[in-house]
Amino acid sequence: MQRCGSCWVKPEEEVGPQLKALGFDPLDVRWVIMTHMHGDHAGGIGHFPNSEILLSKPEADAALARTGPLLGYLNMHYPDWLKPKIVSFNDGPWESFECSSTLTKDGCVHIVPTPGHTLGHMAVIAETDSHCVLVAGDAAYDEQTLLSGSVDGVAQSASLHHDSTRRLRELCGRRPTVTQFAHDPESAKRLASATVTRAD
Ligand SMILES: [Zn+2]
Repeated sequence: MQRCGSCWVKPEEEVGPQLKALGFDPLDVRWVIMTHMHGDHAGGIGHFPNSEILLSKPEADAALARTGPLLGYLNMHYPDWLKPKIVSFNDGPWESFECSSTLTKDGCVHIVPTPGHTLGHMAVIAETDSHCVLVAGDAAYDEQTLLSGSVDGVAQSASLHHDSTRRLRELCGRRPTVTQFAHDPESAKRLASATVTRAD
C-alpha cells in the first residue's frame, strides 16, 4: 500500500489497475503530464515505464535534487528509469497565458505554467468541441479557492499563486471551462456533467 496524504491507497486503487479496469493498458500511454511532483501526486509514476513523463524544468530540478524531500518531493520512491521530458512552453501565448506548449498534432491539448503551489507547477487544458477541460492539479485546492484566489498553506510563492489563479479565472471567463482540481471532491461530478466554472 502507498501512503497518499492523509489516506492509504490499496494496490487495486492505484492508477495502473484503475486504468486497466477502464480498458486501457498503462503500457500504451504515450505521455504522463505531471502538474507537479509532490508525493501525493507522483506515487503512480512506476505504472508508466513506457511513457514520456512530462515536467517543467523548475519542477524537475526541484523534485530530483538531493534536497527534494525537504520540499515534499519523495524522490527516494521514484522509479530508477525516470528521466523526465522537459516541457519548453515554446508555442506562444494561449488564452490568458503568455506562454504555452501544445502537445498534440490536432492542437487541442495545451500545457501552461501555473507556478505558486510549487515553482514549477503546470496545468493542462484539453479543448473539446463544446468546452475546455482544465486539469489544474494543485494550482488551486478546489473550485471555491480558485474563485476566491485563496493561497493554500504550502504554496511556495503566494504572489505567483495569485497570478496563476487570476489567469485561470480569466480562462474560465473567456471559454466555457470544466475545472478539475486534484483535491476537489466535486471534480469528477463536474467532469461527468460537463459543468463549467463561472468566474465572472
Ligand atoms: Zn501538491
